[in-house]
Amino acid sequence: MNIPIAQSSTDTHVSDIDPSIQCSRCEATCCRLTVYVMADDPTPEYLIDQDEHGMDVMRRLDDGWCAALDRDTMRCTIYALRPQVCRDFDMGGADCRQVRANDRNLAIAVLD
Ligand code: SF4
Ligand code: SF4
Repeated sequence: MNIPIAQSSTDTHVSDIDPSIQCSRCEATCCRLTVYVMADDPTPEYLIDQDEHGMDVMRRLDDGWCAALDRDTMRCTIYALRPQVCRDFDMGGADCRQVRANDRNLAIAVLD
């Protein structure tokens, strides 16, 4: 969801990043999560749904992925307009690693 433009080795936040993980080699696992949209996010209205609590969330299609994801390239089609939640989701960060691990475990469970 978030591709860092520059990284500083003195940044403690960056020290928690696994640089071996790249969005370009991931099937947009995080784009199947519930993504909350805040009032000041620039996200286009047609991509927003309400959850059961009336909160604005990114619309997802029947395959589970966010409606804004290009299914051919697995890239975000509204990158400049994506919600802050997506901007804050660091490639290779703790949450990224967790959702990728959950996805792998689910795939293994289905195959077993
Ligand atoms: S799960 Fe991580 S590596 Fe995969 S698309 Fe999201 S941020 Fe990128
Ligand atoms: S808005 Fe873009 S980055 Fe955020 S979940 Fe949807 S496709 Fe992924």
